[in-house]
Amino acid sequence: MFNSYKPDYLVMTAGPTMVSGNVLQGRARNFGNPDLDPDFFVFYDNICNKLKKFYGTEKSQVIIMNGEGMLGLDAACASLTEPGDKVLIISNGVFGGGFEDLVKNYGGICTLFESDFKKSIHIDSLKEFLEKNSDFKYATIVHCDTPTGILNDIGPITKLLKSKGILTVVDTVAALGGVPFEMDNWNIDIALGASQKVFSTPSGLTTMAISDDAWNIILNRKNPIQSFYCNLALWKNCVEEKLFPYTMPASDLIAFNIALDNLLTERLERVWDRHLEMQGYVLERMETLGLELFCEDNYSPTVTAFMVPEDLNSNDILDHMKKEHKVLIAGSYGPFKDKVLRIGHMGENARLDRVFYTLDALEKTINDLRK
Ligand SMILES: *Cc1c(COP(=O)(O)O)cnc(C)c1O
Repeated sequence: MFNSYKPDYLVMTAGPTMVSGNVLQGRARNFGNPDLDPDFFVFYDNICNKLKKFYGTEKSQVIIMNGEGMLGLDAACASLTEPGDKVLIISNGVFGGGFEDLVKNYGGICTLFESDFKKSIHIDSLKEFLEKNSDFKYATIVHCDTPTGILNDIGPITKLLKSKGILTVVDTVAALGGVPFEMDNWNIDIALGASQKVFSTPSGLTTMAISDDAWNIILNRKNPIQSFYCNLALWKNCVEEKLFPYTMPASDLIAFNIALDNLLTERLERVWDRHLEMQGYVLERMETLGLELFCEDNYSPTVTAFMVPEDLNSNDILDHMKKEHKVLIAGSYGPFKDKVLRIGHMGENARLDRVFYTLDALEKTINDLRK
């Protein structure tokens, strides 16, 4: 029964996350007409400027699109790729490898640099690889690959790529806000985020920071961009021209603005510390419970993936957590389905009471299932 879907449980997944009361209330306000009201363009521009702090950028342009995070990945690939372009797909996870399908849709020729999913990308191996082959228009890489919780050390990688004349697209959807990000210092060309991760707003918005070099490619293509909804060129001057490609979701943006203020009032440095602190509690409990972590290094402070114990079943754990303790944690995808479980401790989930409640519930669940 769809009309009985009224979730009332703690959402400890790696997005969507719990949403704060003031953000929920923001969505209930009157929202005007975002197409016609000049004030809306000022409001939108202010939110984009706030986002620049999260992205660590002064030089690039930030835009917010109406659509879940995947829209950003698709739009970046649609807008950069021309048929026959060579693209490097750097992958140590499900989202990392997934870029290949997006790029291929627009006629790009992909080369995969794939490395161990349990480890972060090793800069020296990438360097060695690029010495043989660096003829790429752009490269894609994921900051935190959420299905397994690995965090890549992005800065050195994107700086290296840029020094070889390769543009960089970074999916930081599951990390942005929870860990430092330095778009300008790291020479990144497109950085992607989404509302339902650390920002802890309902899903529905894509955020993107775009460098001048990326705009230069997007606005000077030989072939037209093969999409309307994913055409970034339409976003270049929308504030100045007071014209969005489509009606903006004003309610979502009102809520998002409040969510950004929540984080900025707390101060970003403290938000990062809070994520590290919560991750510390999670890792500590994993050890106490004898649970094996999926990754061998560089665990993301926003999500922890651990192996399902051999004597237990992943669905039993998820069901028991939800039914008996009213906590939703997550399984994983692709090759890790049924083998890996994940606790999201990002944004509003990275709170002491929620993290401890979840860890206690996990401990009780494991004990109950073993009885
Ligand atoms: C959440 C997420 C996205 C957005 O896609 P979903 O459909 O919400 O999974 C993209 N990239 C990463 C790394 C994510 O964690």
